[in-house]
Formats: sequence, C-alpha cells, structure tokens
Amino acid sequence: MIPVVRPYLPDKKKYEKLISKIFDSSHLTNQGRYLKELESRLSEYLNVDRLICVSSGSAALHLAYKIYGLKSKILTSPFSYVATSSTLVWDELIPDFIDIHPNSLNMHVDEEIFLKKANIEGVVSTLVYGNPHGLEDLKKECNKHNIPLIIDAAHAFGVRLNDRSVLEYCNAAALSFHATKIFHTIEGGALIVDTEESEQLARSYINFGIKSDGFEISGGTNYKMNEFEAAMGLCVLDDIDRIIEMRANISKRYNSELSNFCQLPEWPTNSKNNNAYAPIILESEDDLQSVISNLKSKGIQARRYFYPSLDTIGYTHIENTCEISRDIARRVLCLPIYPQLKDAEVSQIIYSVKEALSMN
Ligand SMILES: *Cc1c(COP(=O)(O)O)cnc(C)c1O
Repeated sequence: MIPVVRPYLPDKKKYEKLISKIFDSSHLTNQGRYLKELESRLSEYLNVDRLICVSSGSAALHLAYKIYGLKSKILTSPFSYVATSSTLVWDELIPDFIDIHPNSLNMHVDEEIFLKKANIEGVVSTLVYGNPHGLEDLKKECNKHNIPLIIDAAHAFGVRLNDRSVLEYCNAAALSFHATKIFHTIEGGALIVDTEESEQLARSYINFGIKSDGFEISGGTNYKMNEFEAAMGLCVLDDIDRIIEMRANISKRYNSELSNFCQLPEWPTNSKNNNAYAPIILESEDDLQSVISNLKSKGIQARRYFYPSLDTIGYTHIENTCEISRDIARRVLCLPIYPQLKDAEVSQIIYSVKEALSMN
C-alpha cells in the first residue's frame, strides 16, 4: 500500500532525549523552553520577525480574524481546504468566493472585482499547493482599499517570492504544522503578523486574553502549543532541508514524466516550488476516475484535493458561482509525495497514471 501522504518521523532517540527532559522538568506547556526555541528557530528559518506558535493552522486563521476584528464580508478562495471557509463561517463571517486563475489555481482578484464589491472587510487567500502567484498584486489592491490581507499559508512553508519570504507579502499568515504537512509538530501551526500590536494581541488571545503583564484581560481562548509538540518541531526542523530536497526529487520525476499527459499548476518564475503536493489536472472527470481506480487496484492512494469547490458545499450567502474552481476541482488529483517514497514506487505511480490514460 502506498499512501498519498506519510507523516515524517525524525530519529526516535533524538525525540526521546528531548521528551525525557520534559519529564525531568515537569514543564509540559505554557511558554516552555522548547516552544521558545522553536519560535526563534522558525523565525530565523522562515526569515520573519513575528511568529507565534499555536495549536493548529485553523487556530492561526481564526486568530487572524480576531486580531483584525473582522465581522462581515470576506473575499476568499473557493479552491482551498475546507478549513479556510469553515473557520470564517464559524465566526459568523461571510465568505464571498472569488473564482481562481486557471493556471495557478489561486483566487484571482483584480481591480475590477474590488470596485464591484461593497463592504469588504478583508481578504483571506490560500496559496494553493504553496504557489504565491498573484500575491504581489493582491497585496497592492488590499493596501489601496486599506483592508487586511490574511493568507492561508498552510501549504507554503519555506516558499519565497523575489527571494523574500512570502509571509512578508501580507498582514497575517497562517501556517499549519499538522502531521501531514512538509514541516510538522504533530498538531500545530503558527501565525505570522506584521506589527508589534498584532503580535501582542495574538499572544494574549491564545492565552485566555491575559495581557503579557498578566493583569489586563480581554476576550480570548486557549490555542497554545505544548512542549511535546514543540520538541517534535525541533527534531523535524533539523531535517527540513533534506525533507525538501527529497520531495523535490520526486516532484521532478512527476513533472518531467507526466507533463505531456496532464496539466500541472504553473509557478511564477520568481519563486521556487516547495513541493508540498504533487497535483495533476486531468482532461476530464472520467479520466480522473480511471486514474484513481487504476492506482487503487495497485494499492496506490491518491487524493481529490481540493474537492469539491467550496462555493458548492451549501454555505449560505453565496453570491458568486466559481466556474473555474468547480471545473478544476472535478479534475485535479494529488499523487503520493513524502520523503520516504522510493524511486521504484514513483515509477510505479507514473506508469499507472499513464496506463489508465492510455486505456481511455
Ligand atoms: C491543513 C490546512 C489547513 C488546516 O490546518 P490544521 O493545522 O489542520 O488546522 C487550513 N488550510 C489549508 C489550505 C490546509 O491545507
């Protein structure tokens, strides 16, 4: 059986060593040494100044909405994992879905859309499969209209644009450190913000609304990351360059051997793919079904991701029909990619995709 994702596990002895220090100190959570070390090492690795570790990527998104006091209509992507919208809807915000660019699959916002829309409070845009296409223009539009740009950067760990962290091209960015992501802390995430004030707010909101001096109290909740998770993060971070390189090697083979048979999302030339996912876009949903069943018959799992388009799943207040997103969602498939995937397995996957397409 070849799964579509397999969590990366670091050296067990190394993790055990960190865990045994947690046992010695009995400091399990709340501003522990591993959490602080992880925040500082991640800030350095990602080249950002204000990074707050939290309990999940969804928590990071929710935190961003709270920091900006969002209350009503938000422009967002219909082609994303459901968490982008479910966190909005859960907060009684109204997702106004904007259709995607057919090549990058990111929501496609131009000046015209902004001029047509009234009462937009903010933009929550997903960097689909980590792709930063359109981000610079989106930031310009948001600045012009003085609304915050929040990016769902759950896929975009380590992605750079013009040799700067993509996390610099927004007001806030949510990263997910879920077990299946490139970098993980079992469960976890981080929020990156652009001002001291936002950082202070975030740090109090994740700790029941207690301000850093310990006295002033506002609303808040508990989104803290614990020491066991932070320790896992430290171990995985030690290996991150190798993880990324191994993913790149797999991706290179998929790209060179499958690009004549299916469409691949296009990356801007001023950025490098982090190979968080290995998506292929088939010509039709029938082709997609044949590929899925051929892979399945050989014990290979693939995932319809993202499917379905979020403008179809019954949230109320839907204003737009996002035809491109619906079309792509019906035809896109993510192939297995993870560092432990063997070269022979990649060959088998590529062969099986081609075989299914030649049968149609
Ligand atoms: C994984 C993911 C999330 C949610 O992150 P969690 O850490 O699982 O809460 C949100 N958005 C996207 C695009 C994701 O891939």
